[in-house]
Amino acid sequence: MSVLDQDAQPITLNQFASDNYAGICPEAMQAMQAANSGFVSSYGDDLWTERACEQIRQLFECDCQVFFVFNGTAANSLALAALCRSYHSVICHDLAHVETDECGAPEFFSNGTKLLHVHGPAGKFDLAEVERMITRRSDIHYPRPRVLSLTQATEVGTVYTPAEISAASELAHRYGLRVHMDGARFANAVASLGVAPADISWRAGVDVLCLGGAKNGLAIGEAVVFFDRELAYEFEYRCKQAGQLASKMRFISAPWIGMLEGGTWLNNARLANDCAALLAQELAAIDGVRIMYPRQANSVFVEMPEAVADRLRAAGWRFYSFIGSGGARFMCSWQTTREDVLQLVEAVKKAGSENN
Ligand SMILES: *Cc1c(COP(=O)(O)O)cnc(C)c1O
Repeated sequence: MSVLDQDAQPITLNQFASDNYAGICPEAMQAMQAANSGFVSSYGDDLWTERACEQIRQLFECDCQVFFVFNGTAANSLALAALCRSYHSVICHDLAHVETDECGAPEFFSNGTKLLHVHGPAGKFDLAEVERMITRRSDIHYPRPRVLSLTQATEVGTVYTPAEISAASELAHRYGLRVHMDGARFANAVASLGVAPADISWRAGVDVLCLGGAKNGLAIGEAVVFFDRELAYEFEYRCKQAGQLASKMRFISAPWIGMLEGGTWLNNARLANDCAALLAQELAAIDGVRIMYPRQANSVFVEMPEAVADRLRAAGWRFYSFIGSGGARFMCSWQTTREDVLQLVEAVKKAGSENN
């Protein structure tokens, strides 16, 4: 039997490892299908891409400049490279994806711009620490701070409020820094806060947003959104040089239309967040399990005995334990169901009871 046969057993996992284990949501798939007709001009010079950019402008209620790239690492590193010269530095949290999970791509694409990391509780900046990092040196030997990079939702599943982002931006701008936001899970943050996308981006001082698509239900693709159009100067050349200009761009841009029209992006994020909320509530009631951070988006971080985690893994459950500062991360996606959550909860209880 071919793997392409409709009735072949699907290969699925009991997984809470990442929201990128999920598939393509139906709305994105349908839009991709709709774009697959006839001949269309290449490299983004097409109506699908134009419409997708327009939808993003409407979503953000502003005349922003939009580029589509293949993944978040490219979006972040090219955006940071556009903001910096090689002797500049980017201030980020010590758990930031740009620091810990991009294999040095921001430094590579910016030809040496240094990331300076600061610590702060629950994945968020401590602004006093940020200010100390910006001001501690101004001599020629120190890589000149040029960008403050925030992650929304953060790497440990918390979210910055509009006021917190405004305060961070105000601090950054006061010292002449630009504000970059890694929004791989921006949709989850919007769903969590119940605000308009503009309220946690440009209205709060963000200059460039890397807007996540893959974890929200797309197959491929993130959007780099420049609220200050001048910062996007020659950005298309950067994308092309970095191998990030898709020749069949319509198959990256059309699914964005499927996600944005009708609010699928927000529904998907809500579904994921709601599953994580249920999971946090159920896990908190289990002896020996401690929730590590406030559950605000679509992930739950817990501390539990190593033996329990081992038994869960042996029973086929997938989750990460290398993200953040230890503990197990359970990540929900648009595809996670309440049944999946309740099954995991039962499995944790079972693994825990075998302990005694
Ligand atoms: C997943 C993720 C990204 C993007 O990662 P890619 O694998 O390069 O698409 C960026 N930032 C954060 C915080 C993420 O979780």
